[in-house]
Amino acid sequence: MPQPPYTDTPDPAGERQPAHVPGSDTPMLRTYRQLIGGIWSDAAGGEWLESINPANGEAWALIPRGRAIDAERAVAAARSAFESATWRTMTASARGELLRRVATHLESHIEALAVIEARDNGKRLVDVLPQLRTLPKYFHYYAGLADKIEGAVIPNDVPGVFNYTRHEPLGVVVAITPWNSPLMLAVWKLAPALAAGNTVVLKPSEHASASTLELAAMLEAAGLPPGVVNVVTGLGAEIGAPLVEHPDVAKITFTGSDASGKRIAATAAADLKRVTLELGGKSPQLVFEDADFDNAVNGVLSGIFLALGQSCIAGSRLLVHESIHDRFVEHLVAGMQGVRIGDPFDAATQLGPVANQPQHAKVLAFIEQARAEGARCVLGGHAVHPANCGAGWYVEPTIFTNVQPNMQLYREEVFGPVLAVCRFHTEDEAVQMANDSAFGLAAGIWTTDMARSIRLAERIAAGTVYVNTYRSVSTLSPVGGYKHSGYGRENGIDAIREFLQVKSVWLGLIPVPNPFPQTKG
Ligand code: NAD
Repeated sequence: MPQPPYTDTPDPAGERQPAHVPGSDTPMLRTYRQLIGGIWSDAAGGEWLESINPANGEAWALIPRGRAIDAERAVAAARSAFESATWRTMTASARGELLRRVATHLESHIEALAVIEARDNGKRLVDVLPQLRTLPKYFHYYAGLADKIEGAVIPNDVPGVFNYTRHEPLGVVVAITPWNSPLMLAVWKLAPALAAGNTVVLKPSEHASASTLELAAMLEAAGLPPGVVNVVTGLGAEIGAPLVEHPDVAKITFTGSDASGKRIAATAAADLKRVTLELGGKSPQLVFEDADFDNAVNGVLSGIFLALGQSCIAGSRLLVHESIHDRFVEHLVAGMQGVRIGDPFDAATQLGPVANQPQHAKVLAFIEQARAEGARCVLGGHAVHPANCGAGWYVEPTIFTNVQPNMQLYREEVFGPVLAVCRFHTEDEAVQMANDSAFGLAAGIWTTDMARSIRLAERIAAGTVYVNTYRSVSTLSPVGGYKHSGYGRENGIDAIREFLQVKSVWLGLIPVPNPFPQTKG
C-alpha cells in the first residue's frame, strides 16, 4: 500500500466498536481524508460521516462530510490541473504510459482494496475480488486508446483551404458513483476520461467512500500529477449538487438511481453541461418453454440473487411461459433452500447483508407492499438476524408470484433480493410485458430457438440483451440504458467519445481576396 489516506486511532469515545479495522486487534476508528489538488485534507467544515459495516451495523470509519466549499476547491484544483502545462502538453502516448503505470500499480493492491470495499458495502469478499481484478484491464484498455484518438482530414469542397478535425478533451469532468460497486464504476469513468485528457473530480457514495479514497492514493503513487484526479466525499445534496452546478465543470458522468439522475440532468441542462447517465433497471428475464430448463434456473437465480440483487442489471422481473411456470418456480425455490446468509468475510457465506440501513428498510417496504397488493410470497419475505452478525442488515432471498403489471413490484426497482414472477402465453405477449417498463437496462432470453433469440434481441428495448447467459460485462463491450435507464455508454471504444469534443480547423492556402475593393475616383 502507498502512504495511506487515513489515520487509525483507538475509538476515542469507546462508543463505537469498529473491531474489524484491517491489521488491528484493538478497536480502532479509521479517519479518512479527501484528496484535492494532491493534498489530503479534512472537509473544510471539519465535519464527518460514519461509514458503517453492514455486516454488523458498526461504524468502522469516518469520511469527510464535504460541502459546497470543498466542491469549489476540488473543481478549482481540477481546472488548474487541466490548464497546467504538465497535463496539457503531455503527449497522448505519455498519457497512455501513465495509465499503464496505474494499471500495474493497482495489480498488486487488489486484495487490500477488496477488503476495504467489502467492509464498506457488505459484498462477499469472494464476489468483490474477481470484480476488482478487472480494474487494471480498464486502465490498460484506455491506455491503449489514448494515442489512437485521431481526427480526420476532411475532403475539400472549398477552394484554397485545408480542413482537419481534432478530438479534444472537455475539461473538468465530475464523476458521481453509487455504493454497490464503487471501484468498478469509478474506474469505468476514470480510465476513459483520463485517456481522453480530461481532469476529474470524483464523488463516491456517502455509504461506501473508503475504497475510492484508497484508489486515489494509488493513482497518486503511480504518478498522476496533482489535481488530475480529486476525490471528495459527502452527501449528494451537500457536495454532489454543488459539483453538478459548478460553472467550470464541462461534463457529469453519473451512475445511480433514476431519481438522482433526473435531478442531475435538469441541473446540468440549465448550464448546457454534457451528461452521461447510468441509472436503474427492472430487467426482465424471459424463459420460454423450449429453454434448457436447468440452465435457465441457474441463470435466473444468479441474475437476481448474486450480489443480493444490488446490481443495476439484476434480472428482477421473471416472465415464464405458462406451460412451465409452476415447475420453474418450484425449482427456483428449491435452489434457494438452505442458502447460507451471514458475514460476507466468511467463506461459507452465500448471501451477505444489504449494503446500508436505508436500503434494508426500502427492501422490506417493497416486500410489504407486494403482499398488500396481492402478490404471493413463495420464498423468504423477512429480515433475518444471522448468528454473530450483531445489528447487521440481512434479508431473506424473496420470490413473489402472481405479480401483475399494475403492482409496484412489477414497475419499480427494488435493488435488493426480491424476484417478481409473472406468466406469459405467447412470444408477442412476452415482448409486450418485457417492454412494459420505464426502464431498459438489460434483458435475458432463455430459449433454444436461435431464430427466436435473434428476433427478440431486436424487439426488446434494452441496452444489453443476454441470450442463455446473464451478467457478463467486459472492458471491450458498451454498457448503457434505453429509456429511464439513462443515456450515453460506458466501456468499449464508444466510452472514450463521451469525454471528447470535435473541433474543425480551417487553414487558408491562398490569399484572402479583398471583400470591399475600393473603386477609383
Ligand atoms: P443514488 O442516486 O442515491 O446515489 C448515487 C450517487 O449520487 C451518490 O454518490 C449520491 O451521493 C449522489 N447524489 C445523490 N443525489 C445527488 C444530487 N442531487 N446531485 C449530485 N449527486 C447526488 O443511488 P444509490 O442508491 O447510491 O445507487 C443505487 C442506484 O444506482 C440504483 O438505482 C442502481 O440501479 C443504480 N446503478 C446503476 C448502474 C448502471 O450502470 N446503470 C450501476 C450501479 C448502480
